[in-house]
Amino acid sequence: MGLAVNTSFTDMIATRRIMDPRTTQRTPPPGSTSWGGSFDLLLVVGVMLAVLSRTPVGGLAWYAASQLSSEGAELPSLTAYFSSEAAFVAPSIADLEMLPPETSPPAAEDPTAVPEPWRSAVRTSLGQGLPPALKAQLVEEGRKPTPDQALQVLDTLWVEHENPAVILEIAAIGEDLRERAIARAIAAGEWDPERYEGHRRYLSTRMTREADRFVAGTMALATVLHLEWPVRGSYTVSSPYGYRLHPVLKKRKFHNGLDMRLPIGTPLYAAQAGRVELIGNSSTSGKYIVLDHGHGVRTSYSHLDGHEVKRGDVVESGELIGTSGNTGMSTGPHLHFVVRIGGRSVDPARFRPKDDV
Ligand SMILES: [Zn+2]
Repeated sequence: MGLAVNTSFTDMIATRRIMDPRTTQRTPPPGSTSWGGSFDLLLVVGVMLAVLSRTPVGGLAWYAASQLSSEGAELPSLTAYFSSEAAFVAPSIADLEMLPPETSPPAAEDPTAVPEPWRSAVRTSLGQGLPPALKAQLVEEGRKPTPDQALQVLDTLWVEHENPAVILEIAAIGEDLRERAIARAIAAGEWDPERYEGHRRYLSTRMTREADRFVAGTMALATVLHLEWPVRGSYTVSSPYGYRLHPVLKKRKFHNGLDMRLPIGTPLYAAQAGRVELIGNSSTSGKYIVLDHGHGVRTSYSHLDGHEVKRGDVVESGELIGTSGNTGMSTGPHLHFVVRIGGRSVDPARFRPKDDV
C-alpha cells in the first residue's frame, strides 16, 4: 500500500515537473502551489521508488475501468492504468500535440482493420515518422516505407492480436524484443508482464524510447480523440485557448484552457473515463476537479460551484462530476476547461466531438 501511494504521488510530481513553464504560473493542478521547494528531495526518492517498483496499483483501476468501459468486452479499455504512466508518456507527446488529429472517417465495422479511435491516432503517429522496426520490416519485404504501407502492417497485426497497445509495441520494436522483455518480466515476477507497462523496464533504453514514442504517444492521442464534451447544450466561448490579454490581470498571458460562459449550476460531465485525481479550491481557479484518464491524459474543470465526486472516484465518460460556477479569479460565471497530454496543455477545441454544436 505504501508503494501505491508513492506511485501516484510521484506520478503527479513527474507530471508537474515536465509541465510547460508557461502554464505552471496560474493553472491547475492548483494544489501544486502548496508544495514547497523542500519537497525536492522527497521527490527524488519517490521517483526512484516508483521506477524501481512499478506497482500493481494501476491494475485495480484498470480492472475497474474495464468493468465500466462502454467499448464492450472485446476491446481493452482506453483508460487502462489511470495514473501509472504519465511519467514516461510525456517526452513523446510534445511532438504529437503539434499535429492536428487525422480526421479520417471512422472505419466501418471491419474486423481486419485497426478500429477508431486508434486508427486516427496511429495515422497521426505514423505521419511523424515510422518506427525503425516497422521501416526495416517494410524494406525487407520490398515495400515502400510509407505511412499507408505501415498501416497495412498494423491491420494485419490487429487481426492476430486485437489489442492496440500490443500491435503498436510490435510495430515499434518488433515481436522478438517484445517477447524477450516479457520473458524477463515473468522471470522477475512482475505483476502483469504481458502489458507494456509490466515489461517496459526490461527493454533497452533505445527500445524504450521508440516504444514510448509510438505506444504511449499513440495511446494518449487515442484517449483524447475519444473525449466527450463536458457541457451539454449551448454556450459561448468567452475566451479561447492561447495567448490573450488577461481580463483581470490586464497582462498578456498564456491561457491554457477554453472558457465557456455558463449559468451557475450548469451540470458538467467527465470528458473521458478516469479517476478523480484532485479536488481543490484555490484563489485563482476557485473550486476545481482534475481527472486522470490514463496514458498521461488529464482534464480539469475550474471555477466550479460544486462537485458530485470525491478524490479517488472512478468515473465513466459522460458522468456528472459537478456544476459550473463563478469561484476563484473570474469575471463572470464560466467553466475553464483544460486538456493536458503528458502535462502539457493542448487546445480542447481541437478535441471537441464533431457532432457537438
Ligand atoms: Zn480560462
